[in-house]
Amino acid sequence: MTNTAPPTQQQTTQSRRTDAPTTDERVLSTLNTDGSRHWLRPRLSPGRFLLRRRIVAYMLIAIFALIPYFKINAKPLILLDIINREFTFFGATFLPTDTLLLAILIVTVFVAVFLVTALLGRIWCGWACPQTVYMEFLYRPIERLFEGAPGRKRPLKGPAALRKIAKYAVYLLCSMLLAHIFLSYFVGVDQLFQWMQRSPIEHPTSFLVMMSVTALMMFDFSFFREQTCIVACPYGRFQSVMLDRNSLIVSYDNQRGEPRGKLRRKKKTQHKQDIHLKVAHEELANGDCIDCHMCVTTCPTGIDIREGLQLECVGCAQCIDACDTVMDKIGKPRGLIRYSSEAAIAGERPRIFRPRILIYPIILLVLLTTFITLIGARSAADITILRGMGRPFAQLATGEIANQVRIKIVNRSPETATYTITLANAPDARLIPMEDTLVTIAPGETALQALQIALPPDAFTDGSTRVMLVITSDADFHEERPYRLLGPAGASRRGANSATPSPEEDQ
Ligand code: SF4
Ligand code: SF4
Repeated sequence: MTNTAPPTQQQTTQSRRTDAPTTDERVLSTLNTDGSRHWLRPRLSPGRFLLRRRIVAYMLIAIFALIPYFKINAKPLILLDIINREFTFFGATFLPTDTLLLAILIVTVFVAVFLVTALLGRIWCGWACPQTVYMEFLYRPIERLFEGAPGRKRPLKGPAALRKIAKYAVYLLCSMLLAHIFLSYFVGVDQLFQWMQRSPIEHPTSFLVMMSVTALMMFDFSFFREQTCIVACPYGRFQSVMLDRNSLIVSYDNQRGEPRGKLRRKKKTQHKQDIHLKVAHEELANGDCIDCHMCVTTCPTGIDIREGLQLECVGCAQCIDACDTVMDKIGKPRGLIRYSSEAAIAGERPRIFRPRILIYPIILLVLLTTFITLIGARSAADITILRGMGRPFAQLATGEIANQVRIKIVNRSPETATYTITLANAPDARLIPMEDTLVTIAPGETALQALQIALPPDAFTDGSTRVMLVITSDADFHEERPYRLLGPAGASRRGANSATPSPEEDQ
């Protein structure tokens, strides 16, 4: 029968003794031979890489939490405003009309990932991926605090059930906190704090998003865990095409380690000399690996790195720290497991400059140059003209035909600007401001201005006519946009609502 919940520390130890798959039997590192899940409780292996990863992880967590608070041009460093369809990255706001820029940005990120992976292997997975960072440096330490570290000899005080409940309570608090931070990337911290002070009924959608993210995190970090890296994440699956023989990976030096063999204790016996000789002979015949399995029991994905590079390896370097500690104890040089490359382990000369390492940066350079050029060529304002809601046109008391128009202006400049809307090349036409034709807009903000354009009925031919809308600003912005007005089908006709033009025509 398949297990459905993480086991206690005692159960885990038992499952290792009875059901744990051996290297030859297993299909997946987390699958027992009977098909049930093999729950992992990796040992912590302190060492130089764990210390560095810890520093990096807590810095990344701090950066993730603080980014929404820092602002450029009065906007957060990153704001993914899906409702208004505006995406802000480090002061630059992208709109749906910036599809090309966004596409270039996404392709640039992909190529950069390819380059980093070709050079440094799965450095992202082991050192910076949120899944690893939160699992290994937030949720796992909480688990060890409440349930004890694997291999701990003295049991913790207090009933195990209570400790488990306390663990999940702290998990829930952390997940809710992270979900709030996550939400602030989409709505901004100001809006988030306002919502937090009000009842969830007033903002049900955002509350639902927060609760869903919390539930997902609870599921991931309490139950799914390493399965995210092993079966769900596509990046691990692609690594075989992104890596080559010279990429930096966590490798076991099998030339030095094999044949592996247990380190025998030298006992005091009557035939001390004979036994010493035998042990010395066996140890000379063996490689440096003493088959202690410390590198396996510390692995968060449960694999044995001595079998070579595997899809499950997230490059966390825990096995390096574990093995270095063992090597220190038995007086052998460190680095039996180390950051290296397949080529270097096989004794070949490492090649830094290879085709993909040259091609990726060239593609990156082209993409970044195009991106910067397009950003520089962007207009200081983004203008969208929308037809008014409801009837396409109406006849005024003066006899003129009026079209309602909405003009959406996005101020892309870093300064507040005042925009003026006028008409050109249309002596008979006049603007009827529904509010004002002068619009002042803060940097990065959007305004929607409604107005009417009125013309004598005989200005229309076959139910339409063209005017030129001119939008200028006090910051030297100038844009002319032709616009088609709808009217009666013939000059002689005065029935304002009798024409049947298309009601929607935006420019
Ligand atoms: S920790 Fe080192 S010595 Fe122990 S099994 Fe792994 S590779 Fe061999
Ligand atoms: S094999 Fe080593 S580097 Fe790879 S996931 Fe396991 S512990 Fe981390």
